[in-house]
Amino acid sequence: MIPEKTVCVTGASGFIASHIVNQLLAEGYRVRGTVRKSPEHYPYLLQLPGAGERLELVEADLLRSESFIPAFIECACVIHTASPYIINVKDPQTDLVKPALEGTSAVMEAALKTSGLKRLVLTSSVAAITDEPDSSKVFTEHDWNTRSSLQRHPYHYSKTLAERAAWDFIDRKKPDFDLITINPAMVTGPSVGSGLNTTNAMIRDIMNGVYPGIMDINWGFVDVRDTARAHILAMEKVSARGRYLCSAEVIDMRELVELLSLSGYGNYPLPKRDLTNIFGTALMKTLSWTQPRDTGTYLRTHIGRSIRYECSKIEKELGIEFRPVRESILEAVEDMISKGHLDRRDKKSSAARRKKY
Ligand code: NAP
Repeated sequence: MIPEKTVCVTGASGFIASHIVNQLLAEGYRVRGTVRKSPEHYPYLLQLPGAGERLELVEADLLRSESFIPAFIECACVIHTASPYIINVKDPQTDLVKPALEGTSAVMEAALKTSGLKRLVLTSSVAAITDEPDSSKVFTEHDWNTRSSLQRHPYHYSKTLAERAAWDFIDRKKPDFDLITINPAMVTGPSVGSGLNTTNAMIRDIMNGVYPGIMDINWGFVDVRDTARAHILAMEKVSARGRYLCSAEVIDMRELVELLSLSGYGNYPLPKRDLTNIFGTALMKTLSWTQPRDTGTYLRTHIGRSIRYECSKIEKELGIEFRPVRESILEAVEDMISKGHLDRRDKKSSAARRKKY
């Protein structure tokens, strides 16, 4: 796509979307971002380099398709990121499924009415690939989450339904634009705004001693700037097709705690007790019943199992070179401290901080 063309980013205020907006502006694109409140609520977007001349923020509501029609006028591409990313909710249907599913349908319907639109890039998730690790399997873009429901992993369910609906829409309506999905794992790194993302909040919780010990659990991580870059490359590369799994590296909880400890954060109440054996796993599965419902389900389906993703498609077809996620995690920590999400404590050892990963 040619810079100077307009790109619409839905949910521009979000953790991933604000990096997309930042990178689009840096590349010379005109950007229209949809938000839920009036523009003055987003100074961190309005102050981005190039924003004064090339960023417009407009209000749009995921449950009203017509609110996106003016937002998409003259856009060559829409990047649809807006969707709730929350694990524990009161009402999964209202709080997750409705905005994710109806929001995606609303955006697709508005896209259909937009002349000149070439491509819609949807932020999906590994949640639409699977909702539980399978130690005997490496997950790829061919996999679909078939197990989630309103009761079991409702966030995963919302992302699966939304992505399925988007592909079904393309099959049924055969619009002039095509669809690409980016399916990121746990996205971390520094934030453009002052909010705290759900993934970074998990790292904060580990540093605040919320977990009773080191569990046998692992996660795929990817840097937020690489995730944003993947969306833009998916938009720009004419040859891009289908789904793109987006995970740089799988890190287990022990490695994560060691990274934090060796990087000068050993004076935070990091978990110490080793629960990575069968007894620890059994204990944590029992304790999971004391947790909020969806955290409990997450623990029971993830502890004691190992996740693996095959991400060569995004590397080969989009040319993404992932940055080391250990550095992204440490940048996320510093960012959370600087924004007051984590207490500042004196570094235990500044020499250790300089250790390179
Ligand atoms: P985020 O910072 O919470 O951003 C979510 C965005 O969606 C915000 O702009 C938010 O608007 C908007 N939104 C949420 N609920 C909405 C609703 N009911 N109506 C209208 N807008 C709504 O989260 P994020 O991490 O950037 O997530 C962006 C996308 O990436 C989501 O689709 C998420 O599922 C996906 N994803 C995230 C991760 C991750 O680890 N972060 C991993 C995989 C996929 P407000 O600012 O007004 O709340």
